[in-house]
Amino acid sequence: MNAARRALISGNWKMNNGGASGVQLASDVARAMASFSSIDIVVAPPFTALVPVVAALKGTRVEVAAQNMHPKDKGAFTGEISPSMLLEAGCKWVILGHSERRAMFGDTDATVAEKTKVAMDVGLRPIVCVGETLEERERGDTLNIVKRQLNAFASIIADKPGWAAVAYEPVWAIGTGKNAGPEEAQEVHAMIRARLADISADLAAKTRILYGGSLSPKNADALLRCPDVDGGLIGGAALKAEDFSKVGEIAQSIS
Ligand code: PEP
Repeated sequence: MNAARRALISGNWKMNNGGASGVQLASDVARAMASFSSIDIVVAPPFTALVPVVAALKGTRVEVAAQNMHPKDKGAFTGEISPSMLLEAGCKWVILGHSERRAMFGDTDATVAEKTKVAMDVGLRPIVCVGETLEERERGDTLNIVKRQLNAFASIIADKPGWAAVAYEPVWAIGTGKNAGPEEAQEVHAMIRARLADISADLAAKTRILYGGSLSPKNADALLRCPDVDGGLIGGAALKAEDFSKVGEIAQSIS
């Protein structure tokens, strides 16, 4: 981490805790993390829990993200949720291009860029995910793949430096219990920041680059100490308020 940027600790609940259990988890997170004033905290419940979770978090330091959105504002898109619906629900953030959406639901570099543009335009803060598969890493293609994914939206987030965050999430580390080592993560984070610097020094200095992939209380200290790691996007460990808040406590202690 770097004192110039506030740490951002975010939790992606995926398809878990959609109702009363989501409200309970959000309330537990807010209580456990109430004193962590040096860091920013975001939780991303499923769509059905957004409104009650926003209500439960009113007056706390925890903000709410959606896990995806459709780029169009309204119309015949059965089963989809629009940016203005997210704003109306009280979301401040939206996760875009998560590897599960790229792998299973047809998100591409082009659709992620389109959604990022719309999110920036309507005032939602995107957390845009990038990351290589195991096969891509093993053939030595990590930096090329991440750079290609980043290039699709980098100039879009340059419109408002610091508004969006980028999450580096190696696909092989998501939900597997295998995290990238600090050197592996730092190498990719440094490349991302260098690429942002090609666009503008302000963009590079202000953009928070999060690490995601089996981030937990056990490995958070080493990863969050990397100079270009500005926080985390956490899946499994975000489902337990105790684990999520411990990662927050570590971020708070480093910042
Ligand atoms: C994620 O889904 O974004 C994620 C990083 O999951 P996990 O922490 O479980 O690997």
